[in-house]
Amino acid sequence: MIFNKDNYEFLMGMSIPKLINTLLPEVNTAFQEMVLNAKKEGIFIKLKSGYRSFDFQKRIWNRKYDNYIKKGYSPKSAINKVKEYSALPGTSRHHWGTDIDIIEENNLEEYELQPIFFEENQIFFRLHQWLNKNAHLYGFKLVYTKDSNRNGFNYEPWHYTYAPLSVSYLSTFLKIPIYQIKDVLQIQGKDFFSEAFLNKYIQENVLGINEELKVK
Ligand SMILES: [Zn+2]
Repeated sequence: MIFNKDNYEFLMGMSIPKLINTLLPEVNTAFQEMVLNAKKEGIFIKLKSGYRSFDFQKRIWNRKYDNYIKKGYSPKSAINKVKEYSALPGTSRHHWGTDIDIIEENNLEEYELQPIFFEENQIFFRLHQWLNKNAHLYGFKLVYTKDSNRNGFNYEPWHYTYAPLSVSYLSTFLKIPIYQIKDVLQIQGKDFFSEAFLNKYIQENVLGINEELKVK
């Protein structure tokens, strides 16, 4: 995919692509096949989150930022706290329709996902084991791995990406001059979004992923 205005809007969640079940059609097809085969083995995969728009991510970011400011954090430390877990709007892989947060069908939806749920003897451990073994067969790979050499977001055992599309999306995304996109400069904390800050964010957070998902 070549970089141009249309796909920068797409890759930054500013134009909504054709979606099925909140995923790109090709991703949904692979996902449904995975769900079906998991079911045969008694694992009931549920999609917790697929596509998210720029505006949706902006509401998450701004709400968290404002909360930290209310608690007395400085703008700079509030930004650092928010980006421990939440992507800067425009840079979330959930904008692409290729990335999924998955759980097993049960009643945990109202809770924030935590890595502990996927550990031995915990509620999503069987799901975790099944995904480790099988997800790649359908094109899905873990993004925010447990690798201690990785920068950026914390370990997320629930976040998978459809690699056949997202590897090239990432390579196109990296060509976008984020600093020149005016919508990004209207997010809470914007006074600190220098070109250097955004470049560092790209290096640490956007590229703080499973090595197999980077363009060689
Ligand atoms: Zn996610």
